[in-house]
Amino acid sequence: MVRAYKKPQQGTSWQQRIALQILFVTLASISGITVFSAWKQASVQAQNNNVARTAQEGRQWSEASFPVENFQRYTSPYGYRKSPTTGRVQFHRGLDFAAPLGSYIRNWWGGKVVGLSDHTACGTMVVIQSGEWQHIYCHLKGTVQRTSDGLVMVDRGGGIRLRKGQRVETGRRIGRVGMTGRTTGPHLHWELKYEGEHLDPALVLREMYNQQQAATQ
Ligand SMILES: [Zn+2]
Repeated sequence: MVRAYKKPQQGTSWQQRIALQILFVTLASISGITVFSAWKQASVQAQNNNVARTAQEGRQWSEASFPVENFQRYTSPYGYRKSPTTGRVQFHRGLDFAAPLGSYIRNWWGGKVVGLSDHTACGTMVVIQSGEWQHIYCHLKGTVQRTSDGLVMVDRGGGIRLRKGQRVETGRRIGRVGMTGRTTGPHLHWELKYEGEHLDPALVLREMYNQQQAATQ
């Protein structure tokens, strides 16, 4: 029986090729991580600058209201995470506050109601504009209705009626924690934007805390 003679391979062996591939993947991920952490650092720096700029404009962070009553815990931070509903990695643009169903939500800063909606993953949503800042509240109880008075968010059980265009003062009850939209449990999903750019609400909460501490000392 004639057996085909297998010529010894020339050049790099398979072990060498695998070693090179491992080296390549390692280098690629190290540079990827470096670029990502540099980007993240720059992004946090830029966000901190926006928070600081607002303080320079004379806004007292200590006057802002914590956005939810009966707060239990933070269930999901701002940033990349594995989505609890889809399992895919995505950017979470808000901060989640767990609170019992029906807990009242308070307006973080005095402003104007600029958005009301109840047909997206955000569920029943309220958007309030305060100067350069926009605050977004998701998964509320209640529904949005078109009335002769314009667009209105109504939560009868909570005694809430919010009209688009209406002014709301700091700390006013603007809704209740519900389960509308895409959610696995009762919580407030809260987003903050400065000049149209999202930023980490935790940076603002920390600044509110710092100023309140300074004011009581
Ligand atoms: Zn969320």
